Amino acid sequence: MDLESVKGEIERVVVTDEKLQARLKEIAAQIEADYKNQDLLLIGVLKGAVMVMADLSRYINRHLDMDWMAVSSYGSGTKSSGVVRIMKDLDKDITGRNVLIVEDIVDTGLTLDWLSANLKSRGAKSVEIMTVLRKPESAQVEVAVKYVGFDIPKDFVIGYGLDFNEKYRNLPFIAVLAKHMYE
Ligand code: 5GP
Repeated sequence: MDLESVKGEIERVVVTDEKLQARLKEIAAQIEADYKNQDLLLIGVLKGAVMVMADLSRYINRHLDMDWMAVSSYGSGTKSSGVVRIMKDLDKDITGRNVLIVEDIVDTGLTLDWLSANLKSRGAKSVEIMTVLRKPESAQVEVAVKYVGFDIPKDFVIGYGLDFNEKYRNLPFIAVLAKHMYE
């Protein structure tokens, strides 16, 4: 879906399609170098990471495995609480694997802090994190994120996998939703 189709619904574009894809290519090259001659398993967190997983993995010029998890973090309203429930678990055992979690956004950091610890406890050889977006001002826990697409202000954003009431995931760019859409 293009910008024209949501013109009255967004406040501003935060990351354009072009910038996003260019950054993903850079990160893909870093990943290739960092995991040279090593096993690599990308774990995407549903549903938000579907877009980044599809694009990033296609820019990585080597063999890799992919698996998916779905988690839901419980809290009051839109606030993350750090209490995470697994809605869909991995299909395969990750013992001894080099895991790279692929996420859409790190907000408070609570979800990824929990997920990273959970995957380590299953005997993965290494667990690293790649995220498209990070909101440094919202951090409640320090999560070591190895690959960050863009640091952004703490506004609520949509697009490129990120939703508002399940809509807007199919935008190729990241934007701040206009206030009149939710107030
Ligand atoms: P955290 O545990 O880091 O606070 O939250 C992570 C989850 O909160 C993300 O995976 C995402 O689902 C949701 N989230 C946080 N910030 C935003 C945002 O700006 N827009 C959208 N659509 N979801 C967000």
